[in-house]
Amino acid sequence: MEYLPIFIDLKDRICLVVGGGDIAARKSGLLLKAQTKVTIVAPTVSSTTQALIDEDKVVWIKAEFSIEHLQDKSLVIAATDIEKVNRDVHREAKQQNILVNVADCPELCDFILPSILDRSPIVVAVSSGGKSPILARQLRARLETLIPPTYGRLADLVGRYRQAVQDKLPKLSMRRRFWESILQGKVADHVLAGRDEAGEQTLQAILDETQTDDHQQGEVYLVGAGPGDPELLTFKALRLMQQADVVFYDRLVSKEVLALVRKEAEHVYVGKQRDWHAVRQEEINQLLLKQAQQGKRVLRLKGGDPFIFGRGGEEIETLAAENIPFQVVPGITAASGCASYAGIPLTHRDYSQSCTFVTGQLKGGELDLNWQALVQTRQTVVVYMGLAGLAVLSQKLQQHGMKADVPAALVQQGTTEHQKVWVSTIADLPDLAEREKPAAPTLVIIGDVVKLQSTLKWF
Ligand code: SAH
Repeated sequence: MEYLPIFIDLKDRICLVVGGGDIAARKSGLLLKAQTKVTIVAPTVSSTTQALIDEDKVVWIKAEFSIEHLQDKSLVIAATDIEKVNRDVHREAKQQNILVNVADCPELCDFILPSILDRSPIVVAVSSGGKSPILARQLRARLETLIPPTYGRLADLVGRYRQAVQDKLPKLSMRRRFWESILQGKVADHVLAGRDEAGEQTLQAILDETQTDDHQQGEVYLVGAGPGDPELLTFKALRLMQQADVVFYDRLVSKEVLALVRKEAEHVYVGKQRDWHAVRQEEINQLLLKQAQQGKRVLRLKGGDPFIFGRGGEEIETLAAENIPFQVVPGITAASGCASYAGIPLTHRDYSQSCTFVTGQLKGGELDLNWQALVQTRQTVVVYMGLAGLAVLSQKLQQHGMKADVPAALVQQGTTEHQKVWVSTIADLPDLAEREKPAAPTLVIIGDVVKLQSTLKWF
């Protein structure tokens, strides 16, 4: 981030605007909106600036800029069309440690004025860091359509009840839950639809009924994070990710997905890698249980789908035994994600009528799979965790009668910007791995459907 976005209270402070043209008038108008006191220094002024002066909204010093005008000023904006003056203002302000903005000249700015969506008290500020104000304005216009004007009234209502809620619910976590349910429920519906009074009555009624004892029931959300692309998350996953108190995630969860978890939630990495578990499975089960027993909303975020080679079942068995409520949210499993993004349909009328997911994880150097079933034709076999055992896989399939030239694909980091796809045959898989050195996570797709990849690839 090149600029720190902050909202400053400038009420009753004095800001200097150097210049008397229309741009200066616009900047002054903005400062005035935040109830700042504005002094304008300029030898002459335009009619828009003159109007502000006539209405007594700003003080005008009819002069060229000089250093003493900076005295007692909190901010300075230079908006003249004379470059030398703008540079002088910038230099002098810098020397006195006063934050300065020079209109249309990002390299002379300590701060920039963002594009603003004003739903006071809700204010959204968008900045492109001075790179493209037009892009920032367009984005603001899009937000404008998403955030109804009544949002500000909702914020006002919350503001009025803040103290009452604080008095009744002294614990922060209880208040957070209270407000979350208010802002997602009937009260918000009323206010956003313009029925402020009904909204307020409902809020008061809910507050009256709210229990103040602090025993909270914890809950666990077992959520599938999908194969990597954050746009493949479900709405439900996103909603629960936004309301968790603590999140336990592993290595397969992409950082883009993780960035969508509520920022204030405690983040705990319980990474899983072949032959190396940062936290052992039994410990994870216990951790989830303990946190939920403390009344927390626990997010267990897993790559792909939690019920497909994710041991999600074991984690919730422990919870079920202790009567802890939980929800399971499916995610897009690696097979679906990788197949789609590689352009390999998992079934196809001409090539494959069924699809089997198997684990290719070696146990003592061996693979214990139902080989007779896997070598049947007209099907697709998807192998998870198969990278280390590729040679064994290739050899066993052929030993049990699969033809050496059956097509096979490796998809590495599917659905992400780093995705790589290699297409070959089952006989060549070990050599392919030797040559290309694919890294985890990689998925293996075997069957005639792989032939379609060359025509259907798109990502
Ligand atoms: N629950 C997960 C699978 C966990 S097993 C799911 O439903 O997808 C881990 C294996 O999944 C990895 O070894 C790899 O074979 C596969 N995998 C997961 N994400 C992947 C990705 N983005 N690209 C390729 N393979 C992936």
